[in-house]
Amino acid sequence: MMEASDLFDRITSGEGYFLNIAGPCAVESQDQVSRTAKYLSSIGVPVLRGGAFKPRTSPDTFQGLGEEGLQMLAQAREETGMIIVTEVMDVEKLKLVEKYTDIIQIGSRNCQNFTLLRRVGRSQKPVLLKRGFGNTIDEFVNSARYISLEGNRRILMVERGIRTFETSTRFTLDISAVPVLKERLQYPVIVDPSHPAGVARYVEPLALAGVAAGADGLMVEVHPDPQNALSDKDQQLNFEQYGHLKSKTDQILSAMGKKSMQLERIA
Ligand code: PEP
Ligand code: MN
Repeated sequence: MMEASDLFDRITSGEGYFLNIAGPCAVESQDQVSRTAKYLSSIGVPVLRGGAFKPRTSPDTFQGLGEEGLQMLAQAREETGMIIVTEVMDVEKLKLVEKYTDIIQIGSRNCQNFTLLRRVGRSQKPVLLKRGFGNTIDEFVNSARYISLEGNRRILMVERGIRTFETSTRFTLDISAVPVLKERLQYPVIVDPSHPAGVARYVEPLALAGVAAGADGLMVEVHPDPQNALSDKDQQLNFEQYGHLKSKTDQILSAMGKKSMQLERIA
């Protein structure tokens, strides 16, 4: 099976590989994750996302399935050979999350949790670090340094939108962050168009803008039945919508002399 470290090294090889990460906002059931993984792997997407521990704005909403959710992701990996990325919210749960996942996600709300950043800096697994929605690029770069100074240099930087005065979208996708981060760090820059969009119909234009701006990958929320999703239901794409986005992405990539990394490439 493909290893997350090989995948990371391939993306940073300078050979023009682009990383597609997709999957539901939250893990809800084995059927939901396995169906999504089966679809995504059938179109060559190498990395499956899905939250088992969810940092929700309101404590009254779905908080994730916890370890049971991690087991469901691991089962989907068994079934498809995909690489798994899932979020860890606190140091206390890190060992548990590390046991199941291939890539550790640090969410926007933990971008400046320096204790957690230092601790994942000592992990052997690649870290996907999301920009805090109230953080400058400079602060985001410093957060990555908290990880790298502990020894872990496999970091994926994710621009996921920042809070501005604009209220027509959930957050404002800071496209400028793509070239700035690429100039400041050697790490891959991934665009998450789902959280800034807040609604499914804006996801594709934001994603394509990210690709054209030179992002090294996209992380998109995909759900078999978005209307009935337990979190972020308005912004998740169904399989057909994601398939459409993926083929447009591939067209732009080919015009740029790049290519989507395939699940099969590193066997
Ligand atoms: C997520 O990726 O599901 C998530 C919670 O995103 P963010 O941390 O960017 O809000
Ligand atoms: Mn989400």
